[in-house]
Order: sequence, then C-alpha cells, then structure tokens
Amino acid sequence: MSGAGRWVLHLDMDAFFASAEQLTRPTLAGRPVLVGGLGPRAVVAGASYESRVFGVRSAMPMGQARRRCPHAVTVPPRFVLYQSLSEQVMGVLAEAAPVLEPVSVDEAYLEPPALAGAGAAEVERFAVDLRAAVRAATGLPASVGAGSGKQLAKIASELAKPDGLRVVTPAEQEAVLAPLPVRALSGVGPVAETGLHRLGIRTVGAIAAMDLRELTGLLGTAVGTELHRLARGVDERPVAPRGAAKQISAETTFDADLTAMRAVHEAVARITGAAHRRLVASGRAARTVTVKVRSADFTTHTRSETSAVASTDLGALTAVAQRLARTAVPEGGVRLIGVSLAGLGDDPPPALFEPPREPDLVLDAEPESAAAEEEPDLARPWRPGDDVRHDEHGHGWVQGAGHGRVTVRFETRTTGPGRARTFPADDPALVRADPLGSLA
Ligand SMILES: [Mg+2]
Repeated sequence: MSGAGRWVLHLDMDAFFASAEQLTRPTLAGRPVLVGGLGPRAVVAGASYESRVFGVRSAMPMGQARRRCPHAVTVPPRFVLYQSLSEQVMGVLAEAAPVLEPVSVDEAYLEPPALAGAGAAEVERFAVDLRAAVRAATGLPASVGAGSGKQLAKIASELAKPDGLRVVTPAEQEAVLAPLPVRALSGVGPVAETGLHRLGIRTVGAIAAMDLRELTGLLGTAVGTELHRLARGVDERPVAPRGAAKQISAETTFDADLTAMRAVHEAVARITGAAHRRLVASGRAARTVTVKVRSADFTTHTRSETSAVASTDLGALTAVAQRLARTAVPEGGVRLIGVSLAGLGDDPPPALFEPPREPDLVLDAEPESAAAEEEPDLARPWRPGDDVRHDEHGHGWVQGAGHGRVTVRFETRTTGPGRARTFPADDPALVRADPLGSLA
C-alpha cells in the first residue's frame, strides 16, 4: 500500500462536540457555543467556529474563553451523544472504504483501494461524495484532506477546515509542507519544538533541509529519522484498521516541576479524572492502572497495578493511581505525570476516545466533567444543559434554573429552533431524559 500513486484520506469532523450541540439544539446553530464545565479548573472541550473567531480554542481554560467570548452559550459535554454520532460517522466511512483507521472519536484515515493510482480529480470526486454521505447520515460537517500519506492527508484536512476539502498532489506537497510550523508534523510536541527552535529550526522545510545526524542527535535515532522523512513528504506508514484502544491514557507536562507530594496527588487525581471520563464515555472498565512519572532530569518511572475485577469507579482508580505515584516520585521535581487505564472489559464500540498520539498533547479535565457523567441525582436541582422531557412539550434542555423555577427550551435535531418555557422546578410533568432523545 505504499509507493507511487498512493492516496490516503483523512476525515475530521469540524468542531465535533460543539457541532453536535448545535445540531441537536437548533437554537444554538450559528451562535458561539462552548462545551465544557464551569468549575475553576474547567477547560474548553469544544468550541464552535462562531466562538473561535474570538480567539477561543479547545483546551483553553474556560474562564479565559468566556472572557474572550462573553456572549457564548456554555453547555456541559454530552459524551453519550458524541459517541453515538461518532459511530454513525465511522459506519459511513467503513462503507466507503474497507481500509479504515479511526484515530479518535471524530477523525479517521482511509485508503480506498479504488483510488490506488488515481488522478487528483478522481480523488476529489470521491472525497466530495464522502463528505456528502457523512452530512446526510449525521447532519454534521466534516473536512477531508487527501495526500500521498497519512501526514499529508492530515495536514490537508487541517487546511481544508472548516467544512472543506483539500487534495494535495505529489507535485505540490513540498510547497505545502515547507512553510508549516514544526509542530505540524506528528511526533513534534512542545519539548521537541523547543529543542528545534533553539537551533533556529521553525518550519517543516527547515527540518527537511537539516542534516539527518543533527536531527537524530537532537531527537534520537527513531524520532529524528521519522521526522526527517515526514518533513520531506515521505510517509509510508500504513493505514491500518485498528481494534479498540488497548489503553486509555492522559498525561500532563507541568509548567513548573512539582515538588510537593500534595501537588502530585492532586495532579494524579485530575489526570485520572481525564482518563476516566473517556473510559466511561467508551462504555468500558479498567483492571490495570499505570502511572508514569517523569522527573526534572527526564528519568521516567512507571508503576502498574492490576486488580481482579474491572472497575469504573473514579475514586477507586484514583486511589490506586495515587498509591502508585507515591512509590514512583523521584528526588527533585516531577516534570510530567501520565495515567493510563487498561485491561478494558466488554466489546468496545468502533469509535473510541483514544489516547492522544502526539506524545505531548495534554488532555486535561476538571473533576466537574467527570461528575457530569455519573448517574443523575434526582434530588439535585436542574442544571443548565440537562436533557429533559415534558409530558406535553416533549424533549428539551434546561437553559436556566433557580428560585424554584426551571426554563426549558423544547427542541431536537428535527424540530428547528424551539420555544423556551418556564415551570416550577418540581413540576411532576418534567423528568430527566436520555441525551440521545435530542437526536430524534
Ligand atoms: Mg475534529
């Protein structure tokens, strides 16, 4: 599947979480929407394009995002909904191409055998149809990039965003790659980026022009060799159908090294929460907890513990991770902590919240959003974003609550923008509803 005439496509849903909210809550369509919690440590899990024009980005602290875009509507994440839409997307892709490699809940690589040796026009027609099929099945926009390998396909989909298509031909790939920042290459995280910047290397073109020995001296033989090839557009990595992720992990590199055990424990709890959120979202449980601790001098210590029974209990998994971290913490400071959950039970769905592939990508989460995935507490007051059902008015979502009242917007994917109505908070006609009801 390599060599001349190879075409790899990368499909990436546009602002997936926010688009899913706008789809199923039509009042939000065309508006700035932020998906995420509101706690002091909350980060943006999703941001609609209408909010991005104000400088909001995914993973930005929620407080900062709301200052940049004060008129945005903030809703809590509904992972059950995103997972369901993801399965529809992957179903469409699997039908279009037998060779499919899901990368995360909202992106995948394809290498359609029908396109081997095809011209750019044929690739473009295929991609136009693919985008239309995803839109027809889900109502959601997707961008598609195509190129001679996975790296170029991913870069092309990034260039195509939002809701676009970009085919990078072999003739133009060098010109497309050269001006991109070094971070555009997979495998270049903040640490490698800093090292490259120190050498004055800021673009992919500059990496391509580097002496290979200098690059491997900086990044090691494996990574250096791979990056040198990718920078020159040489990418023979196969598009490989992948089964379920064997593990779900999250890690954080700290701005300042942690020296206090209490800070380590808090960080472990937060990182375990992030991994746990994706564990729960993928409908699975974990038996093995692994903690990775990297010291200030880059020594990495790993500790692992496997229990007899798979668990989804955040408290139990966190306690194990904290115990392991205690034995792994080195003298001096802690630079990075990673937690992974593995030994996952049940048959996983085809689309998964997988660990980030870029080694330095930080996936962080505040405890609030993990709590949001727990069983609803019927005694709890209504919270904005809750899915509800009313005997007379149907499915809706809570826009606001307080002072014994709750305001609900009644709408779903197919209703168009709905009306808001206010009820007594204890109105017996109003009950909690499955988020998937908003797809109706
Ligand atoms: Mg995406």
